[in-house]
Amino acid sequence: MKFGGTSVGTAESLRRVARIVCDAAGTHRVVVIASAVGGVTDRLVAAGERLSTHDLDVPAFVAWVRRRHQELASAVLAEASQSRYERVLDAGCAALERLLHTIERAGPSEALMDELLAVGERLSVPLVALLLGDAGLAASPVDAAPLVRTDERFGEAGVDLAATRRLIQAWHRLLPAGHVPVVTGFIGSTADGRTTTLGRGGSDYSAALFASALHAERLERWTDVDGLYTDDPRTNRQATRLAFLVLEEAWAWNHAGRLGMHRKALDPLVEAQVPVQVRSTLAPERPGTLILPAGHPLRAVATAS
Ligand code: ASP
Ligand code: MG
Repeated sequence: MKFGGTSVGTAESLRRVARIVCDAAGTHRVVVIASAVGGVTDRLVAAGERLSTHDLDVPAFVAWVRRRHQELASAVLAEASQSRYERVLDAGCAALERLLHTIERAGPSEALMDELLAVGERLSVPLVALLLGDAGLAASPVDAAPLVRTDERFGEAGVDLAATRRLIQAWHRLLPAGHVPVVTGFIGSTADGRTTTLGRGGSDYSAALFASALHAERLERWTDVDGLYTDDPRTNRQATRLAFLVLEEAWAWNHAGRLGMHRKALDPLVEAQVPVQVRSTLAPERPGTLILPAGHPLRAVATAS
């Protein structure tokens, strides 16, 4: 189950996420992948750019990052979890401040920029895990860096698919049943342990890597739109929802930039033949869009309806 930035971006949608995951965890073994809180990655990118022209007020920026997360935490977490999250923010913000000063001094290398961009997911995931814990699940935050092995093309790293599959499978085998891991989207690391990012919007790709490595029954991609549309339904009222898509066709459309997902997001799913369901946290009762591999048994139902 992958939740994007808007799904974890307001108190109200975080509460929805908790309900949706609790429901699913009642009947399925779930892995949650989360993006950074909405707006945070954009601000991190901008901060990196402004550092290079010595145009960033570092303490003010760190204070903004802290406030953005703290406001959500105080709205959705129980008191004990709030103080635990305080400590996450203490450590995370101190590290962020050090990193920004390093970039200021040394100049913005691509490797340091990826370390900076990864802060968003590294702060959102502990929040979501604590929230799910408050909701009664055995949830824990997981940093995907040691699980997603990449090359050194910082900013849009290429994934070593075979190594990543092995790492994810070995990790998942050790998870106690009933445990719900909440994993950072978007980030990976090089063989020597340096943080990389998979390109903007990369959490979709992360989710696909986990779903395919684990041979998931399906990948649920949760956003604020109830499926894929022929056009953006927020601006075009003629746009119609696509109920079913064939995964292999969707893959080609996505590579042509027509589905608004990370370019590689469907690659691992085609290979492992894992269906995708695109759903909305605002309307979880709606079926959204189901993307089925051409050879999937449910295709018969899809074609009949
Ligand atoms: N937080 C990252 C971004 O905004 C990754 C993602 O949202 O998928 O690009
Ligand atoms: Mg994002």
